[in-house]
Amino acid sequence: MVATLDPSEITLHTPNMLQVTLGPTPYRTLSLKLAFPPSYPHVPLAAELKVPEVPLSIHPDLVQKLLAAIENLCRGSLGREQIQPCIDLVRSFVAQSRLAPCYEDIKSIIALGLEVCAKKDKAGTFEVLMSSGEYEVRLHVNVPANYPGERPELTLQQHNLPERLAEGAVRYAQDLAVRLAEPPMLQDDDDDFNRDVTDSNNGGRKGKQNVAGAVQAHASDKKARSLAASFHETKEKARQERRARVENFVPRRSIFPAIESIWADLVLPITTVPCPVCAKRILPAKSSLMDKIPKDMRAERSTLCPHLYHFHCLETYVTNPPFDKGCKVCGEKIKHRKLVTESKALEARWAAQKAREREIADAADLF
Ligand SMILES: [Zn+2]
Ligand SMILES: [Zn+2]
Repeated sequence: MVATLDPSEITLHTPNMLQVTLGPTPYRTLSLKLAFPPSYPHVPLAAELKVPEVPLSIHPDLVQKLLAAIENLCRGSLGREQIQPCIDLVRSFVAQSRLAPCYEDIKSIIALGLEVCAKKDKAGTFEVLMSSGEYEVRLHVNVPANYPGERPELTLQQHNLPERLAEGAVRYAQDLAVRLAEPPMLQDDDDDFNRDVTDSNNGGRKGKQNVAGAVQAHASDKKARSLAASFHETKEKARQERRARVENFVPRRSIFPAIESIWADLVLPITTVPCPVCAKRILPAKSSLMDKIPKDMRAERSTLCPHLYHFHCLETYVTNPPFDKGCKVCGEKIKHRKLVTESKALEARWAAQKAREREIADAADLF
């Protein structure tokens, strides 16, 4: 009757009841409780399905669907063996439904108005199609076996947005997924601390050549030790905080937030929000005109905030006073690999330009 069960899978067994717990990962585990009525197998088994008490386990909708399938199976097998087929059904569900742990993510992605397609439950992959006007991004999502305890892999399949921005958005989304799914790395810096203390002690000893020197050395030794102690205290506190963050880390859903960041920070704004400087569309309404845009009018963003500008507009905005005004939308400092954005450098450049203009104006009087 229970030949294919590993003893560790049987969590409860009485003459009238059997409970098995099956699943390859904590997030894909189910407990099936089967009670045998006295007239079994001529009546259906009473089945109950439960998820373990871990966060982010299988969604109740899926549990309900599977339970309905189990009940159907029992009703259709009256007078015959029902226990093994029920166990097999649950076993194959938890083993093969790689997408079960991201059911909630997929629901939220669809609720955002995006299309989820090419779902392959056994392989644990699906695609997300984001479209806005004539622009489209198709992403491939690879769901790891241990999701949400492990990062998904996002790959750009196809798109007609500016290459660098699309790649940057996917990279950001991937990093976000890592932060949500996996604990931060522990960096043990005890060695650095020990070296710092030894260095300061050695520095003190060198000074002990005469009494005055010794007194001074003693004082500086004491100062060095107290400095080292407070340095140690701060470092130790930071180390404990890091360790606590790692130890208390609980994975969170990462697929939906990653997809949402690409949609909300790139696809939607680049196609619907106007440039904050010239108030025109960032990309042409017709995607076929993309190749005709001069380099200076290509879409760009500052590295510190998600707001998009035409490069020329951003450059004009940054190089005209006042110089420390920040992003026109959110006020965040502007940084861009092709632009000087330090206000002192911009001021100096502005002053030099004005001086040159004055010189030229004065020279014009000579003619
Ligand atoms: Zn513009
Ligand atoms: Zn901004």
